[in-house]
Amino acid sequence: MSPVTPPPDAEERRRRKVVITYPNGTLPPPDLAMLADVRRGATLVGETIVAPREGGAFDVPRGHFFRIVSVEGPQVGDLNLFNAANLQERFFSGKTRAIHATHVSTGDRLWSTLPYLRPMATITEDTLGWYGWDEDGGGIHDVIGTRCDPYTTKLLSGATFHHNCHSNLSRALAAARGMPVREAELLVHDVMNVFMCTGFTLDTHQYFMKASPVRPGDYIEFFADIDLLGVLSACPGGDCGADQYGEPARCYPLKVEVWRPDAAFLAAYQPPPVSSYDRTHGLG
Ligand SMILES: [Zn+2]
Repeated sequence: MSPVTPPPDAEERRRRKVVITYPNGTLPPPDLAMLADVRRGATLVGETIVAPREGGAFDVPRGHFFRIVSVEGPQVGDLNLFNAANLQERFFSGKTRAIHATHVSTGDRLWSTLPYLRPMATITEDTLGWYGWDEDGGGIHDVIGTRCDPYTTKLLSGATFHHNCHSNLSRALAAARGMPVREAELLVHDVMNVFMCTGFTLDTHQYFMKASPVRPGDYIEFFADIDLLGVLSACPGGDCGADQYGEPARCYPLKVEVWRPDAAFLAAYQPPPVSSYDRTHGLG
């Protein structure tokens, strides 16, 4: 902040009432009890292991559940989500943050990009839901980070860093859809930082990370509102407890499970429609 002389009514101006920018009470809450019931009758139909410091992709048909599980040791994951049939519709981290909060948990939804803006996935369970907010202002599963990437590392430290989440997501997406990596790279987007403990420092409001409280057996589970292609990177930061430019962190795999509900539920399931905003009025 620049040292400008404050006006005489500075304190009064600062005391203005906080207004929630996007009151979300107009949104029908997900029926978590119904989803828990459906989940109880579901069958495990797929399992993907994402190796440490690598990426992996997985398909989740609409109406199914997917669970990201900590195995072997504390590890955070960078998650991208796409509409499996239209890669232009992807997870919108910024609007998800604006609608819900900086960190997401059970009952929150992951929203898709404009002009679609609909729930892609709904969080149905989170074993780290107990964490809440710590005294540093940190929380779990943020939608404020972007993903570690080689360009920012080059910018800040001059180092070359190949197995970062941005590149892992790009390679995994390219392999899953048979496209050139450079084309896939342009579709990779800001992530949901699964299991990561982050916040903004109380004094300078800088983005920080600290060692994740995740332990083997912890998981976060999602309901797939639409047909999804998920891409996950097991971040080279491991539990992200150390300076990302320092010593290599200890890293562990992440497991993704896909669960299929019973046939009657799937037959009746209708995905949410894309935004009903009529673009012909405002955008021609
Ligand atoms: Zn990373």
